[in-house]
Parts: sequence; structure tokens; C-alpha cells
Amino acid sequence: MAYRISVDADVCMSSGKCVADAPDVFRFDDDELAELVPGAVQPSDEKIIDLARACPSGALQVHDVDSGEEVDVL
Ligand code: SF4
Repeated sequence: MAYRISVDADVCMSSGKCVADAPDVFRFDDDELAELVPGAVQPSDEKIIDLARACPSGALQVHDVDSGEEVDVL
């Protein structure tokens, strides 16, 4: 199973949790919303699940790379 993490900017509340926990993966855009660092390597599946669960607004989405379907890790 391989996961991919992404940000729903419409849901992000700019807590900064993901940016603090994984600064090589996330950064703030000009609106102070989280976005993926361009070219960032996706974290391990375990790390992706931890990051998604730690987001206070549920803005971090997890998808199965093979099926493309969203995975509920909360
Ligand atoms: S942890 Fe969630 S709410 Fe906080 S900056 Fe990241 S995506 Fe936004």
C-alpha cells in the first residue's frame, strides 16, 4: 500500500502543525495556507497517517496511489 498526502486549502486553518512536523514536505503559501513543497518526496505511509491525524482541521487528504481513492485514516 502506498499513500500520497495532499492539502485541501479550502479546509486548512493555518495551524502550522504540518509545516512544523514536516518542513521538507509542507510550507505556507502567500495566503498562509499549507501547500506541498514543490518536488517534495512523499513521506512514508506511517508518517502520512501521523501527519493527517495531527491536522486539527482535517485538511490533509490521503489517497491510495494505485487506486487513486481517498483513504480515511482519521
Ligand atoms: S496541519 Fe492542517 S490546518 Fe494546520 S497548516 Fe497543516 S493543513 Fe493547515
